[in-house]
Amino acid sequence: MSSLKKYKMHINGKWENASSNDFFESENPYTGKPWALIPNGNAQDVDKAVQAAHHAFRHGEWSKLTATQRGRLLYRLGDLIQAKGDDLAQTEVRDNGKLIAEMSAQLKYMPQWYYYFGGLADKIEGAVLPTDKAGMFNFTVKEPLGVVALITPWNSPLNLTTWKLAPALAAGNTIVIKPSEFTSASILEMAELFEEAGFPPGVINIVTGYGKEVGQPLVVHPLVSKVAFTGSETGGVAVYQSAAKKLIPVSLELGGKSPNIIFEDANLESAMMGAISGIFAATGQTCIAGSRLLVQKNVYDELLEKLVNFAATAKMGDPSKMETQVGPITTIAQYQKVLDYIDIAKKEGVECVLGGHAAREPEFANGRFIEPTIFSGVNNKMQIAREEVFGPVLCVIPFEDEEEAIHIANDSEYGLASGVWTKNMNRALRVSSKLESGTVWVNTYRAFSFMSPFGGYKRSGIGRESGQEAIQDFLQTKSVWINTSDEIPNPFIIR
Ligand code: NAD
Repeated sequence: MSSLKKYKMHINGKWENASSNDFFESENPYTGKPWALIPNGNAQDVDKAVQAAHHAFRHGEWSKLTATQRGRLLYRLGDLIQAKGDDLAQTEVRDNGKLIAEMSAQLKYMPQWYYYFGGLADKIEGAVLPTDKAGMFNFTVKEPLGVVALITPWNSPLNLTTWKLAPALAAGNTIVIKPSEFTSASILEMAELFEEAGFPPGVINIVTGYGKEVGQPLVVHPLVSKVAFTGSETGGVAVYQSAAKKLIPVSLELGGKSPNIIFEDANLESAMMGAISGIFAATGQTCIAGSRLLVQKNVYDELLEKLVNFAATAKMGDPSKMETQVGPITTIAQYQKVLDYIDIAKKEGVECVLGGHAAREPEFANGRFIEPTIFSGVNNKMQIAREEVFGPVLCVIPFEDEEEAIHIANDSEYGLASGVWTKNMNRALRVSSKLESGTVWVNTYRAFSFMSPFGGYKRSGIGRESGQEAIQDFLQTKSVWINTSDEIPNPFIIR
């Protein structure tokens, strides 16, 4: 008998096996060993979850709640996450290899999304509009879309689900979540809190499984009214194409190749720390990784020396220890992909000034560890500077002046985030206005808030998460016209 922890899916308020009764293993990236069994869902499970969500939306208790009552459920969920944060953080570490230090902080902060959007639930307002038509009264109402599919990646499971779930619920939709096949455990544990918070059955459902077997049938299901997707460009394009056939709205949070620009007048010590945070935090497995570090030529050598010295001391190891700074790569495929990109860069002739290989010490033998890697003197046209690696691999690119920095920064298909390091505020504003990215950080990196919109320009995505704007992606507008006159108009003329 297997000693692995066996999870169930959450459909219509019940804990269910997959209809196939099949499971797949989830591995601990630190030990490289399986630790849990996840139900291997399919289109039949998807249909069951969507039908439940549709019923809850149309006829269930949820459809009768006032917006204020809906908001209260979100507050309660936030409180419960606060209380269970440590357990959820541990699961995320075990299943994903995320650092406990980061996860503890993330779980403490996560409830804010539920409080913020819980507060917004009863402030979704339409408008009474002036009209140029005599004897007509016109107003708008904002309404939920119906059943919304949330499809999430492996790199930050609870956080990225929360960014979608909180506004989608606040808007009054019902939900089917499809987590990544590599990291399904934490959201299944969070599902216990959905019930405890008082969400009626069918409002939030979770179907686990693979992209083709669960994700795809979910997107094409006739009762799904919107898809909010975070993941790879390939996955995003596939989802967008399928959704186009049904003409339903899609929001996409995709990849990046974000430039982090250090000018000669920056505080080099904090800029160096910003570069470290941009690429080695979360072991570089983050969409906003500042993977292209642009450094002005006259401070290039000094900055590079500081950077290499500091990165060389980063403590790699067991993600469940508070002092660990660099953890494992979450999946085997991703581990291989990062190593392949390191080879590509070497073949392109770039100088590797740190790392450039998998960790060699015996303690890392079972896990998937790659040394923090820095390539110096990279040309922005090289493959390593153009494609998302999604690992602890930094390209350092020299530039002459402001104009060249902006040109290099924008010379990318992506536009998720960028960093600017300078003490000159005129320059900071000038450069940030020219950068083609959804987020610009000045003298900081990786700053997020539930209050501030996040999303991509160009191929990095469509739509925004967090902030008041996010809720609009889960609503539609109805315009209501009321005739207030007794006059009977000519029916053959448009009014
Ligand atoms: P992925 O595209 O492989 O998978 C994401 C999710 O989509 C998974 O749940 C997967 O099962 C599902 N999926 C895959 N193919 C599908 C299909 N055809 N139809 C429906 N669902 C499908 O991405 P990943 O490897 O899990 O995540 C890493 C990627 O996510 C990186 O490119 C990263 O930049 C991106 N990301 C973006 C953001 C952001 O906010 N912009 C945040 C985190 C990660």
